[in-house]
Amino acid sequence: HGDENRDRDRDTNSASSHVLIFPLPYQGHVNSMLKLAELLSIAGLRVTFLNSDYNHHRLLSHSDVLTRFSRFPAFQFQTISDGLPLDNPRSAHQLLQLFDSLNATTKHLFRDRLLSLYPRPSSIIVDGAMTFAIDIAKELGVPVFAFRTISACAFWAYFCIPRLLQSCELPFNDEDMDKPIKSVPGMETFLRRRDLPSFCRAKDRSDPILQRVMTETLNAPRAAALILNTLEDLEGPILSQIRSHCPNLYTVGPLHALLNSQSQDHPPTPTQSGISSNSLWAEQRSCINWLDSHPAKSVVYVSFGSLAVVTKEEMIEFWHGLVKSEKPFLWVVRPGLVGLDSGAGAAAVEEELVEGTRERGCLVEWVPQEEVLSHRAVGAFLTHSGWNSTLESVFARVPMICWPYFADQQMNSREVMDEGARRDELRRRADEVGEMARTSVGDGGSSFSDLGRLVEDLRSIGSM
Ligand code: UDP
Ligand code: UDP
Repeated sequence: HGDENRDRDRDTNSASSHVLIFPLPYQGHVNSMLKLAELLSIAGLRVTFLNSDYNHHRLLSHSDVLTRFSRFPAFQFQTISDGLPLDNPRSAHQLLQLFDSLNATTKHLFRDRLLSLYPRPSSIIVDGAMTFAIDIAKELGVPVFAFRTISACAFWAYFCIPRLLQSCELPFNDEDMDKPIKSVPGMETFLRRRDLPSFCRAKDRSDPILQRVMTETLNAPRAAALILNTLEDLEGPILSQIRSHCPNLYTVGPLHALLNSQSQDHPPTPTQSGISSNSLWAEQRSCINWLDSHPAKSVVYVSFGSLAVVTKEEMIEFWHGLVKSEKPFLWVVRPGLVGLDSGAGAAAVEEELVEGTRERGCLVEWVPQEEVLSHRAVGAFLTHSGWNSTLESVFARVPMICWPYFADQQMNSREVMDEGARRDELRRRADEVGEMARTSVGDGGSSFSDLGRLVEDLRSIGSM
């Protein structure tokens, strides 16, 4: 009877807990926060996912979310404007514009939404890159959890910007990029100028992006808790540093792996591959057939994520390297990847590359990346070191060649770097780290346990 009573209590509590999840409107953020939404739904919580209008339209067009979430009667999507016209580009170059419009427009809409939602959310999980939502939740008395989609290392580097400014290690000029950086506690032995988040390269301490990432990060301790998509075994020492400022910390990564393992025991994911897709672009599944025709660990997978913009010259340089590697390669050339300011324009570059690639390459616009990385034919990943991509590669035990583009990516690539390691050592290290990730999401593992603790805490807040 004890078990029955506990189950009944749990059901009653779940009915009153309603979690609102609100991501920053970018692919990497939507992806990981939707995985969290799915995990909380599996655990029986009522969840509302607040998506930008712009992204929601794309998500419905290109992913299976509607089918997948239809198995949770208490789950709902809601949409909100990001404040920009629908035809406005939203690439990495427009970062500040998007932040300004979120603060100018979305902030007020969010306040109204929070007041009108029924049942009223008992707690909010907000992307910690949008602290206006923390302010509003606090003003309205709703417990708020900050979720950061970046690595603990990158979060901690942002958090230490005031120390870096105070010690005059920031700002710096582009010379001497290997100079050691000493004002990020826990990383004194290996951090160099070039490893700091790209925004730290600003020439002026009042640079608006530098100031913004700093204030958004310093605001995290104002939330009731911090949730990170990482694992204790990978970033333990840095997590201890963060805990001294944000003591209520949950580490639930890799979220995609946690979700895949929990979906097996619960209502199964009704998808072809069993992997949840949260893509904002149409996935070209033909690449899986192409991979099927290749031997184990033979293919280099190349992708620079959803935001990076590269020049025509960089594309051509990569292409030369890939062709000369004499390895087959699968290359994601997302629409908008090649900057239009680089001469002939994207179409011309792509034509040139397709022409030169027929023999060993496969060029696609967007792929089901988790599935690609777990395909036996993939032997290496040339990546921009986005945190989601890094975790997906770690879990799939695929060694990475890093070309960090911007933001937290420099920190991520430094974290997974093995200086001077030979090829076999790289493979061994990839196996070791992949094993750690497996352990963390398995029964009793650190991320598995933290997710359980998060669910219980959200539930008990809802029953108060
Ligand atoms: N992704 C994908 N298909 C692609 C390229 C990327 O599904 O062709 C996914 C990838 O699996 C990851 C996300 O897009 O989950 C990109 O997030 P990440 O943090 O790696 O980089 P960002 O796009 O934010 O720079
Ligand atoms: N490492 C890490 N996180 C850290 C510090 C190091 O993942 O905060 C990794 C590093 O990338 C390397 C390993 O731990 O794979 C050993 O690092 P160390 O700097 O001691 O030696 P390295 O192999 O880089 O010469």
